[in-house]
Amino acid sequence: MPAPSATALLDWYDVHARRLPWRVPPEDRELGILPDPYRVWLSEVMLQQTTVAAVKSYFLNFMERWPTLQALAAAPRDDVMAAWAGLGYYSRARNLKACAEAVARDHDGRFPDTVEGLAALPGIGPYTAAAIAAIAFDVPAAVVDGNVERVVARLFELETPLPDVKPEIRRLTATMTPDQRPGDFAQAMMDLGATICTPKRPACALCPWSEPCLAHRRGDAETLPRRRAKAVRPTRYGMAFVARRHDGALLVRRRADKGLLGGMLEVPGSEWREGPANETAAPFQAGWRSAGKVEHTFTHFHLVLSVMAAEVGDRPPPADCFWLDAAAVAGEALPTVMRKVVEVATGAPIRRAAGRPSTAARPKSSSTG
Ligand code: SF4
Repeated sequence: MPAPSATALLDWYDVHARRLPWRVPPEDRELGILPDPYRVWLSEVMLQQTTVAAVKSYFLNFMERWPTLQALAAAPRDDVMAAWAGLGYYSRARNLKACAEAVARDHDGRFPDTVEGLAALPGIGPYTAAAIAAIAFDVPAAVVDGNVERVVARLFELETPLPDVKPEIRRLTATMTPDQRPGDFAQAMMDLGATICTPKRPACALCPWSEPCLAHRRGDAETLPRRRAKAVRPTRYGMAFVARRHDGALLVRRRADKGLLGGMLEVPGSEWREGPANETAAPFQAGWRSAGKVEHTFTHFHLVLSVMAAEVGDRPPPADCFWLDAAAVAGEALPTVMRKVVEVATGAPIRRAAGRPSTAARPKSSSTG
């Protein structure tokens, strides 16, 4: 049985490569054109835990507002956080800003061209370092994301469940990665996993590796990769208080930089815990009415928030809060769960103002996170 050859995959990629805004297509790479490392880095950070379809508009908006690394490094952090709102995993946005500043300050605005140099930057883990090195600098690094894990587990019929099988997948990917065109090879593996070797009903008849693939031969591709049984996700409960001033301003506060939704805005509320919510967490006395419930699932827990709403007159905000102008709400870095809360309380959708700069007066926050 033949081994899976890089050439077969690259031939397939030359015809079927996905056209994505951050990519240089294979025919241009053939002419020696490599992609801008800034674009590769930005796309890879955005794509962590998020789909290509969800990332495209965010990527284009970032490129329009901050076309260079230097522009992003110099941008106000709150504007970057606001532009990121909706992509989730907000620590990535804080690290994105910190990384841009580090490259501008310590590397003369140019990304290092080695896996080690890239991995030393804020927010760049082993996967992202390998991906940028391969795609932007043609370093023969083994690039293993979820798509590649699936392809390799199937190609070699790996029975060990994830995550224990990861070192073996990395080792096998490294042995397959060619010295010629390693960046295209990495992207071809991602594309094969995303478009052909899909989790359900892989299109093996269209796959350039159908001949050497052990899972295809045995007919059990859909069952791979194996996974350890998942721990049950607990449910936490909390209260959220949506206070609107007569002029439409919204009472908000900023979460601590560290931890879940770090640095993002939220309406005041109770802690989120597995027991009953603390109903005495209102920011002040007002005619609070129950507006409904909001459910939201994070990676490690499911959240149920009871939403209370009140319309209030002009009054100073509590110590840790501030009034956010009605016109600024859509452009602010409200995380998705908080947008849902405000929408339940007001009965109207918040329209996201993509690319809109932040305008609200607010307490100063630090520049890195
Ligand atoms: S032959 Fe099928 S299972 Fe094997 S790598 Fe290709 S698409 Fe995946």
